Amino acid sequence: KNANGKYTVTLIEGDGIGIEISEAVKQIYSAANVPVDWEPVDVTPILVNGKTTIPQAAIESVNKNLVALKGPLATPVGKGHVSLNLTLRRTFNLFANVRPCKSIVGYETPYENVNTVLIRENTEGEYSGIEHTIVPGVVQSIKLITRKASERVIRYAFEYARSINKPHILVVHKASIMKLSDGLFVKVAEDLAKEYPDVKVSFEILDNTSLKLCTDPSDYKDLVMVMPNLYGDIMSDLSSGLIGGLGLTPSGNMGDNVSIFEAVHGSAPDIAGKGLANPTALLLSSCMMLRHMSLNEYADKIEGAVLKTIASGPENRTKDLKGSASTSHFTEQVISHL
Ligand code: NAD
Repeated sequence: KNANGKYTVTLIEGDGIGIEISEAVKQIYSAANVPVDWEPVDVTPILVNGKTTIPQAAIESVNKNLVALKGPLATPVGKGHVSLNLTLRRTFNLFANVRPCKSIVGYETPYENVNTVLIRENTEGEYSGIEHTIVPGVVQSIKLITRKASERVIRYAFEYARSINKPHILVVHKASIMKLSDGLFVKVAEDLAKEYPDVKVSFEILDNTSLKLCTDPSDYKDLVMVMPNLYGDIMSDLSSGLIGGLGLTPSGNMGDNVSIFEAVHGSAPDIAGKGLANPTALLLSSCMMLRHMSLNEYADKIEGAVLKTIASGPENRTKDLKGSASTSHFTEQVISHL
């Protein structure tokens, strides 16, 4: 706690709709009297010795506060610009990305009772960024899988499964084709299973999981999925689609010391600045953050108000949820339901 008796949390507002949805979070936190003081930081990339990095002040803020809430950061495509999201995950060693996906009562989708949790390896795999041109027209991209990174994310999945009382982990892989790389991921899970006799472990090939998850998501409600980086990225968007889209799904990037909570979605340049953004995903990410900080009562209060607002009808929902509300109208409604 700081001198005001509150917890200081680093706030990275982000690009595009990041500004609008961060504003919604700040207003709702203030109305709910959450004991959090925001410390906004600028993460505009800087060049140090020819490498893109984030400003030292931002790094120091996150290392001091240990917890941050982050809006989406835009990554220009193919301009030799290193993704800031990747830079943040690497800088703070945020090795596990936890992405829960739960049906929103009162918002109808083809499936009821979706309740999945996916843990994505967050530091290597297909996102290692090791790519080179061998000869013009031939490019090689290296997928890096290490025992160390696999072990820490799979161990996290075992512990997480225990902690949420779903003692079953499902390892999603493609070891049928990528025998060495995904094969190692699978092997590590088999080895670790011996340390967790109370947690069931099963294995499934990625394409089969994709098919089964969108055929009947209820098969996945009593387990925790864990998978390499790219698969987790794609499967979590698929899971978002099952409950109503990217405007709804939160995530937490977990490390040994630092945790950064953020929405799964990006900066949505198509709707930025128009007052159309749905702040739910960032709000629910902030609720994950509050629970991580053992401020459960505030998380319940805010989550309850968000869900009540969504269920209260299309006039109070944003356009992505087939509604007509602006970001600020939605925010006012959440505050009225606190
Ligand atoms: P996006 O997630 O920004 O948008 C995809 C679609 O979903 C768009 O139609 C958008 O309008 C809609 N959408 C997303 N969030 C919404 C919300 N809260 N409310 C209402 N509608 C919402 O994906 P994109 O367009 O592929 O990426 C845009 C930029 O964001 C890129 O630069 C990308 O690199 C970046 N990105 C950042 C993160 C992150 O910071 N973690 C994640 C994904 C993408």
